[in-house]
Amino acid sequence: MTFGLSFPKPLVTPLRGSSSHGFGHVDVLRFDQTDSHLNGNKVYKLAGHLEVFLTSQRTSLLSFGGAYSNHLYALAALGQRLSIPTMGMVRGYAELPLTPTLSDCMQMGMSLHFLNKREYLNRYNLGYQQQLAAEHDAYVIPEGGAGAQGELGCRAIAEYCRDYQQVWLAVGTGTTALGLAAGLAEQPSPARLVGVQVVNDAGVCRDNWLSQMPDSIHWQLLDQYTDGGFGRCSERLIEKIHQYDNINLPLDPVYTVKLINAFECEYQRHPEWQQERILLIHTGGLQGRRGYSALNPLDQSEV
Ligand SMILES: *Cc1c(COP(=O)(O)O)cnc(C)c1O
Repeated sequence: MTFGLSFPKPLVTPLRGSSSHGFGHVDVLRFDQTDSHLNGNKVYKLAGHLEVFLTSQRTSLLSFGGAYSNHLYALAALGQRLSIPTMGMVRGYAELPLTPTLSDCMQMGMSLHFLNKREYLNRYNLGYQQQLAAEHDAYVIPEGGAGAQGELGCRAIAEYCRDYQQVWLAVGTGTTALGLAAGLAEQPSPARLVGVQVVNDAGVCRDNWLSQMPDSIHWQLLDQYTDGGFGRCSERLIEKIHQYDNINLPLDPVYTVKLINAFECEYQRHPEWQQERILLIHTGGLQGRRGYSALNPLDQSEV
């Protein structure tokens, strides 16, 4: 139980590898499988914000995201589960048909408001956030569930990492990893933390980590596997998603396929890792696959 949310224990499955080369002791922590809607790392980040919301006098939760946002999706699912009204401020798309993500959000009870690109720039502006909070009697959660509260919720992930020498995860804002690191730092011999960046952020995340990572944590941030930047996914990686589909490890094109790709490359260069126990965190995001036509071949039965 964390702040009124109960988290089922996630599955751990061995990484089999899509090609001929095998892995030593590599496991995958399956946050993609914990619940059909309320899953992934976003739920942990939201749990931290929920704690503050529950002590606030606000009656609803409001946040920001794009038309395929894993964060808005998780927020809508959480609101539905706990009967808390939710509101999503969406970047662009007002004139377009709803994406599957936004349509699901609405079905889960979220009310959607569309902001144009210029209005959306205000999302970090404190005055604007206060205005929204007052207008909608809402507790405002930063985009992506970021911030200190998001980190706090992610500390709980550390308990699944006890038996490993290395823990890997995909990194956007870096919030999840910072929270995880804070949890790891309380363990006797914490795993080394390896982050795979999926955003070309000009060093923002690295600077945050340099100033905020606990001293006892050995960490590495890989920035050469963004594959063209946030939301981009090359044909080669789309092919990798198909390969992993065949061995029952569904990956998403924005985060987890980049994690797996980076890990495969680095693993080949480090034969000594055969002797280590390594955990890859599957942070979910599978609902976002619906935004990629290459991953959604037309249903032949409808042709
Ligand atoms: C948001 C997200 C991440 C990145 O989390 P950060 O805390 O922003 O680093 C990783 N994987 C998935 C599937 C996500 O939705």
